[in-house]
Amino acid sequence: MNQDETTEGGCLCGALRYRIGGPVGPAVHCHCEMCRHSGGGAVATWISVASDRFAFTKGEPRVYHSSAQAERRFCPRCGAQITFWSERHPDIMDVTVGTLDRPESLRADHHIWTEGRLSGLPRAMPAEA
Ligand SMILES: [Zn+2]
Ligand SMILES: [Zn+2]
Repeated sequence: MNQDETTEGGCLCGALRYRIGGPVGPAVHCHCEMCRHSGGGAVATWISVASDRFAFTKGEPRVYHSSAQAERRFCPRCGAQITFWSERHPDIMDVTVGTLDRPESLRADHHIWTEGRLSGLPRAMPAEA
Protein backbone atom coordinates (compact mmCIF):
# COMPACT_ATOMS: atom_id res chain seq x y z
CA MET A 1 0.00 0.00 0.00
CA ASN A 2 1.01 3.55 -0.62
CA GLN A 3 1.91 5.17 2.73
CA ASP A 4 1.13 8.61 1.28
CA GLU A 5 -2.48 7.79 0.58
CA THR A 6 -5.26 9.41 2.54
CA THR A 7 -8.66 8.03 3.32
CA GLU A 8 -11.64 10.31 3.62
CA GLY A 9 -15.17 9.98 4.83
CA GLY A 10 -18.08 11.78 6.37
CA CYS A 11 -21.53 11.55 7.85
CA LEU A 12 -24.82 11.09 6.02
CA CYS A 13 -25.70 14.80 5.75
CA GLY A 14 -22.19 16.02 4.92
CA ALA A 15 -21.83 18.34 7.92
CA LEU A 16 -18.90 16.25 9.20
CA ARG A 17 -15.93 15.27 7.09
CA TYR A 18 -12.74 13.54 8.19
CA ARG A 19 -9.39 12.42 6.85
CA ILE A 20 -7.13 9.53 7.80
CA GLY A 21 -3.48 9.72 6.84
CA GLY A 22 -2.03 6.51 5.44
CA PRO A 23 -3.60 3.17 4.62
CA VAL A 24 -6.43 1.69 6.67
CA GLY A 25 -7.77 -1.75 7.41
CA PRO A 26 -8.61 -4.48 7.99
CA ALA A 27 -12.00 -3.92 9.59
CA VAL A 28 -13.76 -5.74 12.42
CA HIS A 29 -17.41 -6.36 13.10
CA CYS A 30 -18.30 -5.57 16.72
CA HIS A 31 -21.27 -7.40 18.18
CA CYS A 32 -21.43 -5.58 21.52
CA GLU A 33 -24.73 -4.17 22.71
CA MET A 34 -23.42 -0.61 22.93
CA CYS A 35 -22.38 -0.63 19.27
CA ARG A 36 -25.80 -1.97 18.30
CA HIS A 37 -27.60 0.78 20.15
CA SER A 38 -25.30 3.59 19.10
CA GLY A 39 -25.19 2.69 15.43
CA GLY A 40 -28.58 1.08 14.98
CA GLY A 41 -27.26 -1.98 13.14
CA ALA A 42 -27.00 -5.63 14.16
CA VAL A 43 -23.22 -5.10 14.20
CA ALA A 44 -20.95 -2.08 13.98
CA THR A 45 -18.01 -2.35 11.60
CA TRP A 46 -14.87 -0.45 12.55
CA ILE A 47 -11.35 0.21 11.41
CA SER A 48 -8.70 1.10 13.97
CA VAL A 49 -6.17 3.79 13.09
CA ALA A 50 -3.50 5.68 15.01
CA SER A 51 -5.22 8.60 16.75
CA ASP A 52 -2.75 11.11 15.36
CA ARG A 53 -3.59 10.01 11.81
CA PHE A 54 -7.27 10.89 12.21
CA ALA A 55 -8.70 14.42 11.98
CA PHE A 56 -12.08 15.98 11.40
CA THR A 57 -11.73 18.37 8.45
CA LYS A 58 -15.25 19.83 8.45
CA GLY A 59 -17.80 20.39 11.20
CA GLU A 60 -17.76 19.77 14.94
CA PRO A 61 -18.91 16.37 16.20
CA ARG A 62 -20.92 15.91 19.35
CA VAL A 63 -19.42 13.61 22.00
CA TYR A 64 -21.29 10.92 23.89
CA HIS A 65 -19.51 9.23 26.80
CA SER A 66 -20.76 5.68 26.43
CA SER A 67 -18.75 4.64 29.49
CA ALA A 68 -16.43 6.35 31.96
CA GLN A 69 -13.48 5.83 29.60
CA ALA A 70 -15.11 5.89 26.18
CA GLU A 71 -16.14 8.66 23.81
CA ARG A 72 -18.30 8.19 20.74
CA ARG A 73 -18.42 11.10 18.29
CA PHE A 74 -21.37 11.65 16.01
CA CYS A 75 -22.92 14.24 13.74
CA PRO A 76 -25.15 16.71 15.64
CA ARG A 77 -27.29 17.12 12.53
CA CYS A 78 -27.87 13.62 11.10
CA GLY A 79 -26.74 11.47 14.05
CA ALA A 80 -24.23 9.34 12.14
CA GLN A 81 -21.67 7.76 14.47
CA ILE A 82 -18.11 8.38 13.27
CA THR A 83 -15.59 7.43 15.98
CA PHE A 84 -15.03 5.45 19.13
CA TRP A 85 -12.13 6.33 21.43
CA SER A 86 -11.19 5.00 24.86
CA GLU A 87 -8.77 6.21 27.50
CA ARG A 88 -7.65 2.58 27.76
CA HIS A 89 -6.13 2.79 24.26
CA PRO A 90 -5.60 6.52 23.70
CA ASP A 91 -3.35 5.99 20.69
CA ILE A 92 -6.12 4.22 18.78
CA MET A 93 -9.12 5.77 17.07
CA ASP A 94 -11.86 3.49 15.80
CA VAL A 95 -13.75 4.78 12.77
CA THR A 96 -17.02 3.45 11.37
CA VAL A 97 -16.44 1.76 8.04
CA GLY A 98 -19.87 2.77 6.79
CA THR A 99 -18.87 6.44 6.79
CA LEU A 100 -15.80 5.94 4.57
CA ASP A 101 -16.09 7.36 1.07
CA ARG A 102 -14.69 4.16 -0.44
CA PRO A 103 -15.13 1.24 1.95
CA GLU A 104 -15.56 -1.45 -0.64
CA SER A 105 -11.90 -2.50 -0.85
CA LEU A 106 -11.60 -3.21 2.88
CA ARG A 107 -11.38 -6.72 4.24
CA ALA A 108 -13.81 -7.21 7.11
CA ASP A 109 -13.87 -10.85 8.15
CA HIS A 110 -12.97 -10.51 11.83
CA HIS A 111 -15.56 -10.44 14.60
CA ILE A 112 -15.23 -9.17 18.19
CA TRP A 113 -17.50 -9.27 21.27
CA THR A 114 -19.09 -12.30 19.65
CA GLU A 115 -20.76 -13.34 22.92
CA GLY A 116 -23.20 -10.54 22.09
CA ARG A 117 -23.85 -11.81 18.59
CA LEU A 118 -27.54 -11.96 17.65
CA SER A 119 -28.50 -15.59 17.16
CA GLY A 120 -30.29 -14.77 13.92
CA LEU A 121 -27.11 -13.58 12.22
CA PRO A 122 -25.04 -15.94 10.08
CA ARG A 123 -21.95 -17.30 11.86
CA ALA A 124 -19.77 -15.60 9.30
CA MET A 125 -20.43 -12.88 6.79
CA PRO A 126 -19.96 -14.02 3.20
CA ALA A 127 -16.42 -13.21 2.10
CA GLU A 128 -14.67 -13.23 -1.22
CA ALA A 129 -12.42 -16.18 -1.83
ZN1 LIG B 1 -24.37 14.62 9.42
ZN1 LIG C 1 -18.81 -2.64 20.13
